[in-house]
Amino acid sequence: MNNKEIVENKIIELLLDEDNITRPFLNEYFDIRPATLLEIIDGLKNKGIIAEPERKGKKTGRKASPVCLNEEYAYIVGLDFQINSTSGIVMDLRKNVKARFEIQSSKGKDIKSGREEIRKVIENLKQQLGDTWGRVKGIGFADPGLVNTEKGLSIKAVNIPGWNSLNTSQWLEENFGLDSIIYPSSMVRTYIEYQNTYPNYPKSLFHMELSSGIGGGFIKDGNLFTGDSYCGMEIGHIVVDPNGPLCQCGNKGCLEAVAGKSGIWKKVMELISNGVQTELNMENFSIPFFIKCVKDRDKAACGLAHDICNNIGLGLASVVALLNPSVIVFSGELSALDEFLVSVVKRTISLHCFPLAVEALDIRVSKCDQYANALGGALLMRKKILLASTNSSKSPGTAG
Ligand SMILES: [Zn+2]
Repeated sequence: MNNKEIVENKIIELLLDEDNITRPFLNEYFDIRPATLLEIIDGLKNKGIIAEPERKGKKTGRKASPVCLNEEYAYIVGLDFQINSTSGIVMDLRKNVKARFEIQSSKGKDIKSGREEIRKVIENLKQQLGDTWGRVKGIGFADPGLVNTEKGLSIKAVNIPGWNSLNTSQWLEENFGLDSIIYPSSMVRTYIEYQNTYPNYPKSLFHMELSSGIGGGFIKDGNLFTGDSYCGMEIGHIVVDPNGPLCQCGNKGCLEAVAGKSGIWKKVMELISNGVQTELNMENFSIPFFIKCVKDRDKAACGLAHDICNNIGLGLASVVALLNPSVIVFSGELSALDEFLVSVVKRTISLHCFPLAVEALDIRVSKCDQYANALGGALLMRKKILLASTNSSKSPGTAG
């Protein structure tokens, strides 16, 4: 990469995080001759990547006119493929959502029905967009399992039969003619949670997903962390109780086995078979119903929720000790426990970690809607497209 490309890339990176920036700001930011900077900005404008809406045809004099990404340069599809649903969005370069669509999945989803769902979602988005579909330049895909992010391979999703050793990137390109980027959904969610802290981006953020399974993701200075064999941040498989129940990974007492949906289900069954007085029952069992019982102050439900949140706190104590993040965000069904979850976790972490690591730690619950992962996927693809557009060499496979 030559010097000019380095400056181009940096301008784009700034615009990925900020809605717009001014020319005076750029002049101060880069230690290069103003004429060279002018040439680079004009070059990006000529390529259609950035725009300067207020400068159109008018003399702006010395007024600080904002530079932003050109929303029409590319549209991007974001897809979130999960066991219970498949959802998709199309956004322009400035995150304006142009279309969205979601399918609730039938029980017993496998690779065949799953791919059929993906096809239906894309067909629907295509219809909604009409002629402007031609602007779409790529797909960001949130995968339900482990992913080789460099090669675009779905390694394994335990809850979807057949969803292993798949070249998902290649399949998307062959079927829809579009380039793509594939990330595990918990990492995609981490990226969107980080983006949503705008304009006060933390230096680092850990995201924890509390659904049927338990996943995590870590972002530091805007870059997603990927383990060397793509198995990093598997917080669901931190052992919190060595004598605890068997986990689907084969170990005993993983956090997922005690605080994932089936772990909670087993505990509720145990309480009921022991004759404990409670509103909880097996006929209505679901995480939302469990949370309702906690909010109704059902004593047994509250006790169980306390144990679960304490175990989540134990898992997170390891995260805090290792990574010392500024922010922890919860997402997923169980995060609807909200303040109950946050307060118990805070207490457990305080008991187990250095005070300095806990004092400034902000623990919060996600405010995102059901399209968050799809949007996060599109944002990751946006980064890949834009950085590749200024780069004469091939773009890096990991755009995190
Ligand atoms: Zn496990």
